[in-house]
Amino acid sequence: MSRTTPTCSLNEPLIFERSAAGKAAFQLPLLDVEDMPVEEILNPKYLRDEISGFPEVSEVELIQHYTRMSTWNYHIDLGMYPLGSCTMKYNPKINERVARIPDIAGTHPLQRDESSQGNLEILFRLQVCLQELTGMSHVSLQPAGGAQGEMTGILMIRSYHLDRNRPRKYVLIPDSAHGTNPASATIAGYDVISIPSDAQGRISVDALAEQMTEDVACLMLTNPNTLGIFEEKITEIAEIVHGKGGLIYMDGANFNALMGYARPGDMGIDVLHLNLHKTFSTPHGGGGPGSGPVACQDTLEPYLPIPRIEEQDGRYLLNQEKPMSVGRVHAFHGNFGMIVRALCYILTCGKKGLKELSETAVLNANYIRHRLKGHYDLPFDTPTLHEVIFSDKIQATKGIKTLDIAKRLIDYGFHPPTIYFPLIVHGALMIEPAESVGRDELDSFIEAMIAISREAEEEPEKILNAPQSARLTRLDETQAARSPILRWRPPGEDN
Ligand SMILES: *Cc1c(COP(=O)(O)O)cnc(C)c1O
Repeated sequence: MSRTTPTCSLNEPLIFERSAAGKAAFQLPLLDVEDMPVEEILNPKYLRDEISGFPEVSEVELIQHYTRMSTWNYHIDLGMYPLGSCTMKYNPKINERVARIPDIAGTHPLQRDESSQGNLEILFRLQVCLQELTGMSHVSLQPAGGAQGEMTGILMIRSYHLDRNRPRKYVLIPDSAHGTNPASATIAGYDVISIPSDAQGRISVDALAEQMTEDVACLMLTNPNTLGIFEEKITEIAEIVHGKGGLIYMDGANFNALMGYARPGDMGIDVLHLNLHKTFSTPHGGGGPGSGPVACQDTLEPYLPIPRIEEQDGRYLLNQEKPMSVGRVHAFHGNFGMIVRALCYILTCGKKGLKELSETAVLNANYIRHRLKGHYDLPFDTPTLHEVIFSDKIQATKGIKTLDIAKRLIDYGFHPPTIYFPLIVHGALMIEPAESVGRDELDSFIEAMIAISREAEEEPEKILNAPQSARLTRLDETQAARSPILRWRPPGEDN
């Protein structure tokens, strides 16, 4: 049933529980200076005396403890992550090779421009690639992730309106948006007005036209949206917003669906962010820091973060002379290692390859949609782009909810998809396979989902008790959120 590789099932104790006085994994060389109490070398105020009970273990115990636990992790080199709105794709190993080249990895960001021309060229070339892919005129690579890119873009929009002596008060955001959108708008000092979606899952243009006034700074739109649906009326939407002097921010987290097919710059978008850790295959989450470049049109260029990386007669330089800039949003040039990996990915794929990968991402999502249709409820039954949203409506009649389905997938060896998002779909299961998943893996995932829908009919108790094959079975998530245990205490002591 399960495709998980069986591993030695060891009940791994905490490393503290293996501890015994005198065991040591490492021995320091004998002192070749006079022995002194530490209080005489360091200011006693820097010494912490409340830490006791450091684990004492041997080297073998130490290595085996961590190695065993590392094999419990689900990771992108083990199997697919069908997490919707995340674009969890494979991270090609060539990216890692290139990022580790000593001449790239070993340079210091404070080196003078003349001695880091190669690195500046990498930054500049990625900017040019992203400009071309998005159809926007300017790019800053500084923001450290999508959310920070949003904040940077909204601050730029704010500066733009302030320069025109019309600060404006509101940001319009569709109700299907990712939570970072309203958060970014709020941090930038705006009040958010939520725009409902229509029956097809697109932003309601009528509601938008009604809410769009000269008090609105911008519309934040995700395209394709979090339902995987392209906002087809984007040019009409742009006319409505621009007609009242507002701007359009595009959340480009779903750019994986568009590459080579559609450019935000051609749709009337004024500023957007991309997520290098999504679309451009740099590590995601625990695998590395993120990167959320911002791209904009000429009108917003003066407000981009400084320094700007520019080219003059074949030399690359950092331009700090941008008095209207929102300033810096990250130290140095953002997460440079991610920028190297993303450029490597773009050059590996090439123009044709990037277009093909968007095609494949869309095809994979629609293959899942087609094969699971009938087994799971499809709240929006139109072909989608890179992701597909199901709900638990069919299974709920048997008492099986989205969370149960997600937990049961673990027993079948798959990472669960995004659940309960977008918020406008009750019991949502949001599946995005991305292009790096092959036909066999897609089929195994689909078969697992179909098997679970059959179990919901015939043996619901199997699902309600899932996962059973994992090291930890169903966790009490309420308890974990309400009274988290954040500090280890020796067994027997109360928390
Ligand atoms: C991932 C995502 C974000 C946030 O990006 P981070 O890089 O995680 O900060 C914003 N909007 C959408 C639609 C996303 O999927």
